[in-house]
Order: sequence, then C-alpha cells, then structure tokens
Amino acid sequence: MILFKRSSHLREYLSVKRREEMSVGFVPTMGALHQGHLSLIRRSKTENNLTVCSIFVNPAQFNDPKDLDKYPRPIEKDIELLCSVECDVLFMPHNEEIYPDGINHLKNYDLGHLENFLEGVSRPGHFKGVANVVDRLLQIIQPDKLYLGQKDFQQVKVIESGIRNSEFGNKKTAVVMCEIVREKDGLAMSSRNVRLNETQRRNAAGISRELFFIRDHWKEFELSKLKQEAIQRINSIPEAHVDYLEFCDAEKFVIIHDWNEAEKIVCVTSVIVGGVRLLDNVLIK
Ligand code: AMP
Repeated sequence: MILFKRSSHLREYLSVKRREEMSVGFVPTMGALHQGHLSLIRRSKTENNLTVCSIFVNPAQFNDPKDLDKYPRPIEKDIELLCSVECDVLFMPHNEEIYPDGINHLKNYDLGHLENFLEGVSRPGHFKGVANVVDRLLQIIQPDKLYLGQKDFQQVKVIESGIRNSEFGNKKTAVVMCEIVREKDGLAMSSRNVRLNETQRRNAAGISRELFFIRDHWKEFELSKLKQEAIQRINSIPEAHVDYLEFCDAEKFVIIHDWNEAEKIVCVTSVIVGGVRLLDNVLIK
C-alpha cells in the first residue's frame, strides 16, 4: 500500500494510472476502521483495478467540538487493517490539503431538503461539512466508483444528489451503496461503539432488534402505530433516547405516513445511548 499525504502527489500518481486505463474505486473514511469499512474496500477491489481509501477526520462535519476531540484515531491499527485487505492507496491529508482557505471558509452547496432533515436537524451544518470534504476528495481522486455504507443512509442520499446535480464531483462517478455490517448481536458496526461501556454496548443491540422486528412484521401494523411502539420500546432501553425514528421513501428520502406512499421504504433511526449517537436503518420494502 502506498501512503500519500499531499493531494498533488496523489493526483500525479492517479493520472499515470488512469493513462494506463486503470479504473479507480474510492472509499472515504474517518478512520478507526472496522469490518464495515473493510467490506467497502473489499467490494471496491473486486470492481476496480485500484482502490484508494482516505482517512480524514473532517472537522467541518462535527457540530460538537467534544465529539471531534473524542473521535478515535488508532492510525497504526488502521494501516495494518488496510494492508490486511490489500488496499492499494491510503490518502491521509492534513487539514490544509482539504481546506486551503481554512475551516471557516466552507463552500455552500444546494443540498435541497436533505440538508435540514432528520440527521441535519440534530446536527446543524453537518451535511455542509460532509459536502465540502466529499467535493474536495472527489476533485482530487476523480474515482470511477465511490463506495458508501448504507449505515449512513442520509449521507448516501446527500452525496448521490450532490453528484447528480453537479454540486460536486463528477457526474461520471457512480455511487455504490454497501450493506450494513453488524456485530454478532445485530448492532451496526461504528467507530463510535468503542465509546459505549459494557452495559451500554449490550443494551445498544436492542436498537437493531427493534429494526429487525419492523422489517419482519411491518405488514401486520399501521405505520403510525408501529412507529409509536418502536420508539417506546427503544426508549425503554436503559440510557437510550430516540432522536428520531421515521419511515421514509427510500428513493426521494421524504417521510411517509402510509405503507402505500412509496415503492421502496427505509426505516431510519438515530438513538443516543449514554451520550453516544448511534445510527441504524433497515430497508423494509
Ligand atoms: P466513517 O468512517 O464513519 O465516516 O465511515 C466511512 C464509510 O464507511 C461510510 O460510507 C460509512 O457509511 C461506512 N460504514 C460505517 N459503518 C459501516 C458499517 N457498519 N457497515 C458498512 N459500512 C459502514
């Protein structure tokens, strides 16, 4: 694996590879890698000649400075994991490479309703920060395919629409959404899970249990009743508090109130457990 810290060096390297007609798959991450991240890299490796992974803890997408400080950064272990899946290139830029004008000079993007919806309501500015970093990374890497996890479903929607509407990146980049990788007890893998204590960690599995119940039984209930009961059950988990749980049209990503309102439906939730924000979702139709 080759490690790049400077975007100019990475650009040069990739332009040579592109002249050799190599296809490039790209997996952006914030590090603290786990099997979820590695599944994206494995997928990219099967579909491209060259796989680039980036590790950049993006300060612009944290609205809580404490969350940014507490974000885990086990870089040596990350490099080992990337080598174990034979990732070709690691890009680890400093802040100045991504934000040459400084973090206080972010670009504005038209992200439509997605910006101030669900996750965007609780984390103002979060998707603006995501858009800035993705735009910059896509300019540098110009991948053929971009690999994103379904776990951050709204993020996938934001990036897909940004690329489609030429807000950032290149229209030719195809977005590939990859399935959520879970722990044995169902909890969606996340770099934030290490911040849960043993009890919180055990209890957090109740979130996915509820989502699996919804996936398997939704037809038996009215939407509003199922939503209300799911929220109550998750809130009854010790130290858990549902920020939102909604059924959405999985294409347009708008809230629906009846099962007939959409052809594809996703149930998305964000739950705070002991102060740690956990996202999860299931596609149910
Ligand atoms: P992050 O490092 O949290 O920014 O995540 C980097 C990428 O990995 C994003 O596209 C995430 O959606 C994806 N990802 C995170 N957790 C998982 C998971 N459990 N399964 C699959 N993909 C994931």
